[in-house]
Amino acid sequence: MYIDSHAHFDLCADDLHTTADSIVLHMAENQVTHAVHVVIDFDGLQWGVDFASKYKNIYLALGIHPSSVADGTTLQQFITTTEHYIARMPDTIFGIGETGLDYYRMRQPKAMQQESFHAQIQLAKKHDLPVIVHSRDAMQDTYAILKQYSPLKGIIHCFSGDSGDARNFMDLGLYISFAGNVTYKNATNLHDAARFIPLDRLLLETDAPFLTPVPHRGKPNHPGLVIYTYQFIASLKKVALANCIDNIAQNFSNLLNTH
Ligand SMILES: [Zn+2]
Repeated sequence: MYIDSHAHFDLCADDLHTTADSIVLHMAENQVTHAVHVVIDFDGLQWGVDFASKYKNIYLALGIHPSSVADGTTLQQFITTTEHYIARMPDTIFGIGETGLDYYRMRQPKAMQQESFHAQIQLAKKHDLPVIVHSRDAMQDTYAILKQYSPLKGIIHCFSGDSGDARNFMDLGLYISFAGNVTYKNATNLHDAARFIPLDRLLLETDAPFLTPVPHRGKPNHPGLVIYTYQFIASLKKVALANCIDNIAQNFSNLLNTH
């Protein structure tokens, strides 16, 4: 069974021919048994709850992305609503996030991103849930903030660092997840990191609709395509695909069972 540990079904479903429900069907065709739908702002929370409620194999991560607005009122509303759903649908809620820091796009001020990141890590810890971390051009600050809450349960999603960064995050207790960009030919830093990270700390994801893996690069991404990233990682690490699949399933269930 393949697992896509991070996808945005609502963003994949943008055009008329592709609906969130048809994407779930594609998962089954590709033997992708489970996926996590990741909410990125307060406005997307209700859609995520409704969508994940329809499917037993879709888990939900609730968060405010560092590029989304997280002023004091929004953040408080987000926390209240999220706590309501943690109590109401504990088997569906996988974690808190994605949250973190994005100094590349810098759509929100640094101070707001950091305050929101702290609040969401605290929320995750309070409920013993994994935190799903986004970090872009902000590796040092991301690490410094996370370290204050170590040991942590969670995932560095769409990992973009090198093996040294991976070591640091693993030492905090976190899993490292690669998206489709690890399959790109020029991503040599990511290849080195993926060789370095042991199978028992690794997760894979599509981050759909972004970062479509080779050989579908340039076409729309969806969770069914995570199988290509599995194949790439198995051959890069010179391990059997079945071994890769089993380890990642175990890692995913370790995070699920922490609830
Ligand atoms: Zn994402």
